[in-house]
Amino acid sequence: MKILKKLAFFMLLGTTMLFAKPTIYILATGGTIAGAGESALSGSYTSGTVTVDKLIAAVPQINEIATIKGEQISNIGSQEMNNEVWLKLANRVNELLSDKSVDGIVITHGTDTMEESAYFLNLVTKSKKPVVFVGAMRSGTSMSADGPLNIYNAVNVAMDKNSVGKGVLVVMNDKIHAAREVTKTNTTAVDTFKSVNTGNIGTVNYGIVNYYLAPVKKHTVNSEFSVKGLESLPRVDIVYGHTEDTPDFVETAVKNGAKGIVLAGMGNGNPYPSVEKALAEAVKQGVVVVRGSRVGSGSTSVGAEVDDAKYGFLTADNLNVQKARVLLMVALTKTSDKDKIQKYFKEY
Ligand code: GLU
Repeated sequence: MKILKKLAFFMLLGTTMLFAKPTIYILATGGTIAGAGESALSGSYTSGTVTVDKLIAAVPQINEIATIKGEQISNIGSQEMNNEVWLKLANRVNELLSDKSVDGIVITHGTDTMEESAYFLNLVTKSKKPVVFVGAMRSGTSMSADGPLNIYNAVNVAMDKNSVGKGVLVVMNDKIHAAREVTKTNTTAVDTFKSVNTGNIGTVNYGIVNYYLAPVKKHTVNSEFSVKGLESLPRVDIVYGHTEDTPDFVETAVKNGAKGIVLAGMGNGNPYPSVEKALAEAVKQGVVVVRGSRVGSGSTSVGAEVDDAKYGFLTADNLNVQKARVLLMVALTKTSDKDKIQKYFKEY
C-alpha cells in the first residue's frame, strides 16, 4: 500500500513537472504595439494608449503555453524613452530574473528606439534567462496589425531553452535578432528590423523557434557593467557629420556638459575639418570622443583617414552611432580611461 502511494506521488510530481507552464513576465513600456488609431486604414495613431492587461488579453493563446504576468513600466512612444525609464526597467528585469519562479521576460516597446533599449539591457542584465523585446509597426486598431503575432512569437522565444544565454533578443516579423546587431531600417515597413552586419540569429514561425547563429560579443552575465546603485547616466551626445559642416554642435555639446561625443561621421567615420578640430579640442577638455559612421553598416577603422592616435579619438567598431552612444554612456559609469573604453568597443 505504502509503495503504491509513493508511486502515485511520484507519478503526480512527474506529470506536474512535465506539464508545468513556464512563468513569463510581460513588461510593457508603450509604443505602437500599445497604440490605437481612428480607423483600420489610418496611418495616424497615438502610441502608448493600451495598457499591459489589454495587450495580454488581445493574445489569449499565450495563456495556453505560459503563466503570463504583466506589469506596466511606462506607457510612452519610444521617442520619449529616457534614462529614468531605462534604469527602472533594468532594475526590475534583474529583480524578476533573480526569482527562481520566473523563466523569462518579454518587453513590449516602441520600435523607434527599441534597439537602444535592448542594447542597454544587453549590457546590464545579470541573468542568462531570456529577455525578449517586441513591438509592432502597425497599431492594434490597424488592418493586418502585426502586434499580436509578434507577442505570441516573443513569448515562445522567451520560453525556449535555446534562448538561454544568448543575451537580450529582439523579436519582430518572424525573426530573432541579437540586441547588439539589430537596427530599424525602414520608417514604416513591417520588415524594418535587420541585423545589417551579421544577419538575424534565428526565426520564429507561429511560435516555432529555430536558431542558426549565436552572439559572440560580451553581454549580460559576462558584462562588467551594472545599474546597481546608479541613479543617473552620463550625458553623451551624437553629432551628425555632413558637407559644409560647422563645429557649432560639438562646441555646444561640450559647453552643456557632455562627457562623451559620438560622431556620426561621413563614410569611415570622417569629420569635416573644422569639426575634427573641435573634436580634438573636446578631447583636450576631457570629453571622450568616439568616431562612428552615418553609413549604417560596417566598422569604423582606426586611423584610416583620421589620425586617431594624435587627437585621442576612439572608434565605434561596427556599432551604429545610437548604440555607440549607449555603450559610451555605460562605459563612462565605470571609467573615463580612453584605452579601457576603446577595449570595451572591441569586446561588447
Ligand atoms: N514612435 C513610436 C514608438 O517608437 C512608433 C513606433 C512603433 O512603436 O512602431 O513608440
